[in-house]
Amino acid sequence: MYHVKNYINGRLTETSSKSNIDIFNPSTGEIIGKVVNSNHNDLLEMIEFAKKAQVTWSNFTPLKRSRIISKYKNLIEENIEDLAKLVSIEHGKTLDDAIGSVTRGLEVVEFACGIPHLLKGEFSLNVGTNIDSYSFRQPLGITAGITPFNFPAMVPMWMYPISIACGNSFILKPSEKDPSCSIKLAELFSKAGLPDGVFNVIHGNKNIVDLILENKDISSVSFVGSTPVAKYIYEKSSKYGKKVQSLGGAKNHLLVMPDANLDQAVDGIIGAAFGSAGERCMAVSVAVAIGDIADNLVDKINTKSQNLKVAPWTDSESQMGPVISKEHKEKIISYIDSGINEGAKLVLDGRKINIQGYENGYFLGPTIFDSVKTNMKIYKEEIFGPVLSIVRAKNYEEAINIVNNHEFGNGTSIYTSDGEIARHFTTNITIGMVGVNVPIPVPMAFHSFGGWKNSLFGSNAMHGIEGVNFFTKLKTITSRWPKSIKSGPEFKMPTN
Ligand code: NAD
Repeated sequence: MYHVKNYINGRLTETSSKSNIDIFNPSTGEIIGKVVNSNHNDLLEMIEFAKKAQVTWSNFTPLKRSRIISKYKNLIEENIEDLAKLVSIEHGKTLDDAIGSVTRGLEVVEFACGIPHLLKGEFSLNVGTNIDSYSFRQPLGITAGITPFNFPAMVPMWMYPISIACGNSFILKPSEKDPSCSIKLAELFSKAGLPDGVFNVIHGNKNIVDLILENKDISSVSFVGSTPVAKYIYEKSSKYGKKVQSLGGAKNHLLVMPDANLDQAVDGIIGAAFGSAGERCMAVSVAVAIGDIADNLVDKINTKSQNLKVAPWTDSESQMGPVISKEHKEKIISYIDSGINEGAKLVLDGRKINIQGYENGYFLGPTIFDSVKTNMKIYKEEIFGPVLSIVRAKNYEEAINIVNNHEFGNGTSIYTSDGEIARHFTTNITIGMVGVNVPIPVPMAFHSFGGWKNSLFGSNAMHGIEGVNFFTKLKTITSRWPKSIKSGPEFKMPTN
């Protein structure tokens, strides 16, 4: 049994809080550790260090900051398997998948190494006679991030490397369900030479989140999690005058056109629906079968899904691990029950899966519903588990309307060999991240990640140039020198 502490001012710190939260191994259902449930004093102490550190850190030249981030990148590469194991132990996902997720986070660190270039600013000579104008971006101060359980390394890494590269200090509140990886990420940053107090980790639940949102010394909040909480974070952070980017839940559709390569589409759907047990915000939870291919598509998905290996991450052949908690497993089962009650056709039932030696683990098998209607609960709501709904549409027009009418707008994809259709789809779909023959269109670190509609609140997406803009304030200077000032007071608007 281990105890996860806060990381304050460059070291693990005992807290004044005596309250703790249990950490479970999702493969066995056993309690394996405890994480501190921090209180207000813990946060206030952290903020004092973060405030002082930010002043020093923002005076490091961007090049000097970049060199420390480069060292950090090397350390993450050297420790990638250890980091991934921490993810797998507490989250349950397969080791390959965990390594992949840390690698996607690492790419943001690589992007942040380019901060001298990214902060270059703009200059205009002679905006008026002998008057020059230039703009640059300055750090916000103390920034905070609140992150979900499903990517305990990658999602925090969407935020803090860029914030810190921009000259801010950062307070991370990771998910209480899998908090260990964030500590290792913080320790490696200190080892790379990051001054103490620039990157801090505070643990806890809603209580500490509310204290972060209300604190006047914190300038911005970056959030990723479920839509009701994302909306709450957006509204409350705005009320307290903070800059906020808040990413929520999803219901991602993959459309299969009659001219698509069906086998490629099936492989795409299965990986995207059941990878990481469906606990990805970019998971495909709805396949839209268009026209007369539907029966064939359903058969092929069903046949291939039956061969998926569901097992703990310690089994190197596992393709799908458990879901995060007992409560979440029960919630997913209740969605499956509701799909049956509402008349969807259950093609594959994952409720009764039994893995020898892991009977108390939170495992579910792949589950497939056919003939799902858009008024059903399993269609409307995010299930966040290994449950695929197949909706049948007569034609492309009906299919695109289905997607555009959904409240979420995170990701979507179309499988087709028709360029005209693909182009129409990419320009007319009301979704933030779109794939063409790519099942999970997650943008790389140098582009930006973010959905539309109820999948994102606030104006900035994560990482890429949107990230740099979010973690900085724009300042524009207009300047001239005394000898060029010829006239006295001017009372009309100056024009050129
Ligand atoms: P969650 O919303 O329950 O929790 C996210 C974070 O908020 C955690 O740190 C948690 O401690 C905190 N929190 C929980 N309830 C809170 C409350 N009432 N008030 C204040 N803070 C609270 O999400 P989760 O279950 O950890 O993660 C799964 C969700 O995250 C899914 O909905 C998934 O789609 C979403 N997600 C979205 C993206 C994206 O990019 N859009 C990426 C990953 C995950």
